[in-house]
Amino acid sequence: MAKVPKYVYFFGNGKAEGKAEMKNLLGGKGANLAEMVNIGLPVPPGFSITTEVCTAYYQNKQNYPKSLQKEVLTALAKVEKAMGAKLGDAKNPLLVSIRSGARASMPGMMDTILNLGLNDKTVAGLIAKTKNERFVYDSYRRFVQMYGDVVLGLKPVNKDDIDPFEEIIEAKKHQKNVKLDTELTAEDLKELVVKFKAAIKEKTGHDFPEDPLVQMWGAIGAVFSSWMNDRAIAYRKMYDIPESWGTAVNVQTMVFGNMGEDSGTGVAFTRDAATGENYFYGEYLMNAQGEDVVAGTRTPLPILKLKEQDAKLYGQLDKIRKTLEKHYRDMMDVEFTIQQGKLFMLQCRVGKRTAFAAIKIAVDMVVEKLISEKEALTRIEPDQLNQLLRPIFDLKEKEAAVKSGRLLAKGLNAGPGAATGRIVFNAVDAEAWKNRGEKVILTRIETSPEDIKGMDASEGILTARGGMTSHAALVARQMGKVCVAGCDELLIDYAKHTMTVKGKVLKEGDWISLDGSTGQVIEGKIQTKPSEVLQVLVEKTLDPKDAPVYQTFEKVMAWADKYRTLNIRTNADQPDQAANAIAFGAEGIGLCRTEHMFFGEGKIGPMREMILADTLDQRKLALAKLLPLQRKDFAGIFEAMKGKPVTIRTIDPPLHEFVPHEEKEQRALAQSMGISYEKVKERVEGLHEFNPMLGFRGCRLGIIFPEITEMQARAIFEAAAETQKKGIPVAPEVMIPLVGNVKELRHQEKLVRATAEAVMQEQGVKFKYMVGTMIEIPRGALTADEIAEVAEFFSFGTNDLTQTTLGVSRDDAARFLVPYVEKEIYAKDPFEVLDRGGVGKLMKIAVEKGRSIRPGIKLGICGEHGGDPSSIEFCHLIGLNYVSCSPFRVPIARLAAARAALLNPAAPAKKVVKKAKTSRKK
Ligand code: PEP
Ligand code: MG
Repeated sequence: MAKVPKYVYFFGNGKAEGKAEMKNLLGGKGANLAEMVNIGLPVPPGFSITTEVCTAYYQNKQNYPKSLQKEVLTALAKVEKAMGAKLGDAKNPLLVSIRSGARASMPGMMDTILNLGLNDKTVAGLIAKTKNERFVYDSYRRFVQMYGDVVLGLKPVNKDDIDPFEEIIEAKKHQKNVKLDTELTAEDLKELVVKFKAAIKEKTGHDFPEDPLVQMWGAIGAVFSSWMNDRAIAYRKMYDIPESWGTAVNVQTMVFGNMGEDSGTGVAFTRDAATGENYFYGEYLMNAQGEDVVAGTRTPLPILKLKEQDAKLYGQLDKIRKTLEKHYRDMMDVEFTIQQGKLFMLQCRVGKRTAFAAIKIAVDMVVEKLISEKEALTRIEPDQLNQLLRPIFDLKEKEAAVKSGRLLAKGLNAGPGAATGRIVFNAVDAEAWKNRGEKVILTRIETSPEDIKGMDASEGILTARGGMTSHAALVARQMGKVCVAGCDELLIDYAKHTMTVKGKVLKEGDWISLDGSTGQVIEGKIQTKPSEVLQVLVEKTLDPKDAPVYQTFEKVMAWADKYRTLNIRTNADQPDQAANAIAFGAEGIGLCRTEHMFFGEGKIGPMREMILADTLDQRKLALAKLLPLQRKDFAGIFEAMKGKPVTIRTIDPPLHEFVPHEEKEQRALAQSMGISYEKVKERVEGLHEFNPMLGFRGCRLGIIFPEITEMQARAIFEAAAETQKKGIPVAPEVMIPLVGNVKELRHQEKLVRATAEAVMQEQGVKFKYMVGTMIEIPRGALTADEIAEVAEFFSFGTNDLTQTTLGVSRDDAARFLVPYVEKEIYAKDPFEVLDRGGVGKLMKIAVEKGRSIRPGIKLGICGEHGGDPSSIEFCHLIGLNYVSCSPFRVPIARLAAARAALLNPAAPAKKVVKKAKTSRKK
C-alpha cells in the first residue's frame, strides 16, 4: 500500500519537523519558521499544513485528505502542551493565528486570521490571565472583524464603499465623541463585538461560530480558498508563480504586541531594502499588533529608536539580525513581536528589494565574503537592471518647481526614481486611465492588496498613511514603481475625488510629480532625465567617480563578463545607436536592418523611384542615386564599431512598405517623378499583398531584382574600403534574409562575393568579410546542413521563425495573444519569450545540422528574443555563439548570459570569447 503522505509539520520547543529547504512543501513562511526554531531563535510554537493539502483540496472539490484531521489535532495537542494552554479552555485559552504561506512570497495577497480561539467564554479566561480587559476586548473585536470579513465574507460591495465593520466603529466613535480607536473603552469594544456579530448574521445569514475548533477549520478553509482569489491570481500572473504550487497554512500560537507599553511589534530588514545600505532597517510600534504596522494605519518608528527605548531588546534583535544574515547569507525580512518584554520572531524570509538594493547587497556581500561573485550574479534578475536605467528628474526643472512653491508635501522615499502623471484616486480608475493612454499617479490614503492591478498600471504611488514597510511601499518597490508613502499632510477625499494639501485642492486628472528618492511630492509635470548609469555611459555628463550606482552596476557587469560564454551583440541601424550599444558593452552588431536606413534623409525619394521603375535602366538609375547614401550610412556604422563585426542584412520587407498609400501623397510622388498619378496608383496597387509578411520579401526581392543586392553589397564594401583606408579596421558580415532553400542563398552569395572582389580590386585594398544567412523559416532550419555548405554564419530571426512555425502572423496576433496567454494555451507571448518546444526545436535542429557540415559556423540570434533572459538561457543551452538585442538591453543580456552559464554548468562548452568592457562613449 502506498504510504500516506505527512501533511502536518510541528515546530516549537527548540525542535522542528521541517527546515528551510522544505519550502516547496511547507511554503516559505513555514519552512523558515522551522529553520528559525532549529537555529535557536525564539519562535511561538505552531504547525504547518503542507502545500500538498492545498493541491489535493482543489483537485478534490475542496475536500481535505482523510488523514488531515487527525494530524492537525495531534499537532494542535503538541502546541497546547508546549504552551500549557488549550484551545477553547475557559481558564487558560490558547489563541492562534492562521496564515497562508506559499513557496514564493505573495505579500498580502492571501488571507490571515488572528486571535483565533476567542469566544464569549475564553474572553473571560484571557481577562483573568492578562488583567487587561480592554486589550482582550480589542483582540476579540479584531478577531470577529477579520473572521467576518475573511471567512464569512462581509466586505464592502463597491470600490467607494466603506468597510461595514469600520462603519460600525465610526458610528461608535461618533456616539462617544472620540477620534481614535484607542479612545474606545473595554465596554465600547464589547458592544462592538455584539454589533459585529449581529451585522454578520443580518448581512450574511451566518452565525459567528463560538466553537474554536469550528473557527479553526473555517479559517484554514478560508486561507486555502484565498489561493484562488482575484488578487492572488493577478499576483501569480505578474510574477510567474504557477497555480499548481498551492499555499501552505500555518497555525501558530498568538503572541501579543498590544499587551501594554512593554509590548510591541515590528517588521525589519537586515539591510535597507530601498538602497541596500548595510544597517538595521525597519519599523516598530509599541502597544500594537502586526497589522497596525503593515496596514499603515499608524506611522511607526524607525527600528534604531528602539535602541534608545530598550537597549537590551534592541541588542537581542540586532544579534538575531547578524545570526540570520550569517545563516542565510542574504538580506532577510523579519517580523517580530515583543510580548510584555519578551521577544518572539514570527517570520523571516529573504527580503524583497529594489534593483538598486539587490545589486548593492549582492556586491557588498561579495566584499564581506558572505557570498561568491557567482552567487551574487545569480541573485540579480537581469530585468532588475531596467530599474537602474530608469529616468530621474531634470534637476534644474525640479529645483525651479520647488522654488516657485510647487512643493506640495514630503513623504517617505519608499520607491526610488522619478514619476510624473495625473492623479487618480482608486485602482479601478488607474487601470482605466492607463488603458486610454494616460500616465497616472495612484493616490490613496493607504493601499491594500486589492489595489495591485491599479498600482501596476500607475507611474507612481502616493499614500497619505503608512511607513516604509506598509503595503504600498513593499509592493511598489517590488514592482519597481516610484512610491512616496506616509505623506500625512494630504487630505484625500475619495468621494469628491480631491486631495487637499496646505489649503490647495487638487482634483482627479491634475498633474503631480513624485520623487521617490527624496519623498517629495510636487505639483505639475516635471521633465525626467536618464538614470545615473545612462548619464555616465551614454550622455557622458557624469563622472563615474561621482556615480556610486554606476560603480556598483559596473562591478556586476565585469563579473557577468567573466562568467558568460555567449557574446552580446546589438541590433542597430544608426551610428549613434551603435555607439550607445558599445557603451553598454555590445561586442558587435548582430543585425543592421538596411531598410530602416531608406527612411533617412533624402533616401525615400530614390527608393520609391527604384520601386516604381518600369525598366532595368530606370531602376539602375534610381539605385545609382541610393548607392552613395547607403555607403555613407555603412561608413558611419563601421567607424562607430571600430573593427567589431557588423552584420548587415540585405533588403527584407515587401516593397509596398516603402510606397505611399494615400492619394495626396501619391499625387505628390507622381509630380516629383514626372509621371501620372494614375500610374503611381496602379503600381502601388500592384504591390498589394494579402499577407504582407509572406509574399514578395526577403531574399526573393534580391533574386528577382539582383541589382538591388548588388547596389547594397557595393555600398557595404565601398564603405568598408573607405573606412579601412582611414586606418579603422572593419569586419563586415553580409546577411541574406528569409532563406528557405540553399539555392536562394547560393544565388545571392555569388552576387555578393563578385561585388566584394570587384570593389577590392577597384579600391586596391583587401578586407575580410563573411556571407551568411538568417534562419527564419522552418525549411531553412530543416535544411540547415545544405545551407551551411554556403553560409559562413547563421543568425536566427526568431521573429519570423516564430510566426512561420506557429502559423501566427506577428502583425495580426494581438487580438488573441493576450487571451491565449490568459487561458494558458501559450505560457507566454511567444514573440517575447522564445517557444522552446516548437521554435526552439527547429533552432536546435539547425544548430546540429549547421555544425555537422561546418563545425566552425558562427551562430547567433537577432530576433527580439535576443534580449529576453529566458530566451538567452535557451540560446546558451543550444550552444549559440552570440545573442543580439536592442542597445538598452545589452546590460540585461550580459547578465542573463552569465546567469545562463552559471546555472547550467553542463551546457555545451563553447570556446571562451574575448569580451568587450562597458565603455564610456568616446
Ligand atoms: C526576425 O525575423 O527575427 C528578424 C530579426 O527580422 P525582422 O524582425 O526584421 O523580420
Ligand atoms: Mg525576419
